[in-house]
Amino acid sequence: MSESMHWADRIAQLVKERVEKDKLLQAVVKEKGYICYDEKTPSGNIHVGSGRGWVIFDCVAKALRKIGLKGRFILSSDDMDPFDKPSKELGEEWNKYLGMPFRDMPSPQKGYKNYADYYFSRVTEKFPEWGIEAELQSTGERYIDGSFNPQIKKILDNADKVKQIYMDLYGEDTPAAKKLPFNVKCPQCGKIATTIATEWNKEKEEIYFECKENVVKFAQGCGHKGWISPYNGNGKFPWKVEWPAKWPMMGVVYEIAGKDHFTKGGARTIANKIAVDVLGYPPPVPSDGYKTGKGYEFFTVGGAKMSTSKGTGMSFRGISEYAPAKMLRYLIVKSRVHAVLDFDPYNDNDLLLLYDRYDKTEKDYFEGKDELQKRVYELSHVGKIPTSCPPHIPLNTAAFTIQIALFDVDKALDILKGLDMVDKEASKEDIEAIKERLEFARRWVKDFASDQYKFEVATKVSEDVKKSLSEKQKEALTLLKVKLSAKDYGQKELYEEFYKIKEETNVEIKDFFEAAYLIIINKKRGPKLAGFILSLGKEKVIDLLNQAV
Ligand SMILES: [Zn+2]
Repeated sequence: MSESMHWADRIAQLVKERVEKDKLLQAVVKEKGYICYDEKTPSGNIHVGSGRGWVIFDCVAKALRKIGLKGRFILSSDDMDPFDKPSKELGEEWNKYLGMPFRDMPSPQKGYKNYADYYFSRVTEKFPEWGIEAELQSTGERYIDGSFNPQIKKILDNADKVKQIYMDLYGEDTPAAKKLPFNVKCPQCGKIATTIATEWNKEKEEIYFECKENVVKFAQGCGHKGWISPYNGNGKFPWKVEWPAKWPMMGVVYEIAGKDHFTKGGARTIANKIAVDVLGYPPPVPSDGYKTGKGYEFFTVGGAKMSTSKGTGMSFRGISEYAPAKMLRYLIVKSRVHAVLDFDPYNDNDLLLLYDRYDKTEKDYFEGKDELQKRVYELSHVGKIPTSCPPHIPLNTAAFTIQIALFDVDKALDILKGLDMVDKEASKEDIEAIKERLEFARRWVKDFASDQYKFEVATKVSEDVKKSLSEKQKEALTLLKVKLSAKDYGQKELYEEFYKIKEETNVEIKDFFEAAYLIIINKKRGPKLAGFILSLGKEKVIDLLNQAV
C-alpha cells in the first residue's frame, strides 16, 4: 500500500483483504455489507472523545464505498446497560432508578422515548453538522427482537470456557468466575445490575438467578429469585462478553475503539478470545485473531480555562459552540488515527491555525496539487463539495471586520466587498461561506477570543491618550490627517503612505502605528492599519485625528 494513501483508504484496503481471505466473512458481507460498528452507553452527556471514533468510522465506511464495496457505519445505543452512577446533572431524585437499564428510565426531557433515547439523540442530532452518516440502532431492541438469542445460547452452553478465559487473564479469584456471563433483568423490580445468575439448564433453556442486596454497591436488589428464559430481552451479557457477541450477530468487519480498550489484558483481549474460542467469529479489523491491534488515540479539548469552566471536560454536543463541526472533522481526518489530538479553543493560535490549514487544504484541492491533501478535503468537507474554491477570509480578518460592523454580518460583508476581499459578483455559494465564517467570528469575539483580537472603536479620544503622545507622533498623525483629507486611497497605496510619513517626519514606524491605534481604539495594537482605516471609513478616522492633534 502506498505511503501517501489516506489512513481511511488504507484501513478500507485492509478490511477488503481480510474478507477476501475468509470464507465466513465473504458470506457475511454478501448478506449484510461491510459493517463498521460502534456502540455507546447513553449514560449522560457524551464526551467529545467519542466524536473522533465516529468520524473514523464514517471515513472508513466512505472509503469502502469508494472502492465499490457496501460500507455501512452502524452506531448502536447500549441502552440495556444499567444506570450505575448518580447523575450530577439531574440530581438525587433520579437515584431511585439506579440499577435499571437506561431504556427503562423516563426521559429527562419531553419528546424522547426514554432516558437512553434522550442522551443518545443529543449526540446523534449533531451528526449532520459533522457530516457523519450513520445507521442508528438500539442494542436493547436487538435483545428484545431475539437477534442475540443464538449468541446467548452459545455463550451459556460454553460458560465454563468463558469463565476460564477470565481466570486466565485475571486469576482464579476473579468475580466473573463465580457466576454465569449473563445478567437477568429482574422481572419483579426491573433492575439488571442487582441480579446474579448461577445455573443454566441447557435442555429447558432457562437460567437461575437471584436479585440480591449486595451484588453492586450503587443499588439493592429485591430478593426475587427463580428460573427464567434468557432470551428476547430478559437480560443481557456483561459488556466484555456482549462486545464479541455483537460481531457475529451484526456481521462486523471493522471496529476500532479508544486505546484504553486495547491495553494488554483489557476488554479487547477478552473479546477476541471469546470471539475466536467460543463464537468462532474472526475479530474485526484492527484486530487479527487474538492480536488486538491498536485503538485510536484520545481527542481532548484542553486548556486550563476549559477544564475549570466545564469541570469534567467538553461534551460532543457542546464542542461545536467553540469551533464549527466541519473544522473539527477536518482536524480528525487530517491526523493519523494513532496521533494524540488536543484542541484548545481558548488558545487563539489553535483556532487561527486550524482555519488557515483548512483553507490551504481547500485551495490545494481545487488546484489539484497534492493527492493526499485532496483526499483529506474530500473526507472532511461536510455537504456537497463546492464547484469552485470559496474565497478565504482569515479568521482574524473576519473577527475585526465583524467588530467594525458592530456585529452585523451583512454590514461586515459590505466592508469586505469595499476592501476587495470579496468579489462584488461573488456567487451565492461563496457569500454563504463568508457569512458562515463571519457568524463564527462573532461568537469567537464575544465568547472566548483573547483581548488582543477584541476592540471597540473610540467615539472620543481620551485626555490620557492625548497626553501620552510625543511631539513626533503628533507630527506624524497631523500628516496622516492631511493626506487622508486630500485624496482617496486603496489599501496598498495607503500602507505605502505610512512609510512616506515615517520618512517625512522621522518618526519610528512602531511609534506611528501605536499612536494611530491609541487614537482609534485606545489600544497599542490592532488589525492591519491601512485596511482598518478604510473599513472604518476615513471620515471617522479624520474626526478622531482632529480631536487628538
Ligand atoms: Zn429484583
